[in-house]
Amino acid sequence: MHAVSWEQLCHPRKEGGVGLRPLLEIREASALKLSWRFISGGSLWAAWMHSRYVKHGNFWTCTPDNNHYVTFKTVLRHRRVLKSAIRRVMKDGSGTDLWRDPWIDRSSLLDIRGSPTHQEDMRGLTCSRIIRDGEWRPELYRFTAELGGSIMSTIIDPALPADRWIWEPTGASSGTGEFQFRSCYNLIRRTFPLSSDYEFVWCKGLARKMQLCVYKLLLGRLLTRDRLSSFGVPVPDPKCVLCCLEPESMKHIFFECTLAWQIWSEQSRVLGVCASEKCIGDIISVLRDCRGRGQDWFRTARVRLAASVWHVWRERNRRIFEELVTPPVGILHNIEFDVNAMENG
Ligand SMILES: [Zn+2]
Repeated sequence: MHAVSWEQLCHPRKEGGVGLRPLLEIREASALKLSWRFISGGSLWAAWMHSRYVKHGNFWTCTPDNNHYVTFKTVLRHRRVLKSAIRRVMKDGSGTDLWRDPWIDRSSLLDIRGSPTHQEDMRGLTCSRIIRDGEWRPELYRFTAELGGSIMSTIIDPALPADRWIWEPTGASSGTGEFQFRSCYNLIRRTFPLSSDYEFVWCKGLARKMQLCVYKLLLGRLLTRDRLSSFGVPVPDPKCVLCCLEPESMKHIFFECTLAWQIWSEQSRVLGVCASEKCIGDIISVLRDCRGRGQDWFRTARVRLAASVWHVWRERNRRIFEELVTPPVGILHNIEFDVNAMENG
């Protein structure tokens, strides 16, 4: 996999990688999980950390200092991301700081309105000030109609044992409200454009060697002679070893060479599609347009595409490195053999 950068390999499969997770992002996600454990409470560790470092202050506004244990500093450092992953659900508001907890659509009143005119207005005030009989009463604190509307979106559930945080990252589908590492990791990681082309790589049942060959072809990273030359590697003969006529490039050996044409013609005949494709993108488009023929057909089409690509590449390598030649009929036979094995395996 030396032809693809480590960074790209770490993308999710639908975003052009192989789904590896970089250690740095796993570490960040683990730190976020720790921050969640701290605010959701219920453990001796969280209670101890709270009593030692937050005391009667507020977790969301306290300032890190040198006396803080390193774990607590890590928790504080993740507050901003944490806000985007949680929502407050009220029992009666008595456990929620009116000004400083981010209970209004992931923001605090302090974030939205700035500091109150009198600092003492913040002290000891909880959301119970504006909840009566299980309903929001924002007018009791002279909130504007606009802010009142945002407040109403916070759920009150008098049946809860207490006000609580639920895990609900922005953009993630609503779950159980419990922490999930997958959605936590997605919140931390960098994202890249999605491409459905990669479903032609990561098809279930496809041999790994074929997946990787199609993957590198899609990314344009197979080490053909034209690319080796461009890297400064001495290439005595730049010609394609399959036809010995044209310079070797990915476009040539997979889509223009006479051998490639024989193979695509046969695969197109079996699949019942048009064989005028000029690149991997064209083939993928044609096959995708026909996916209405059913899941089984579409899977077979992807298996045939991958087996064809891999056998052309294998034949090229055997001719270069082993000086062995298999005639087109033999290659087609090998493709059929592998397709049947993968279809029935
Ligand atoms: Zn050729």
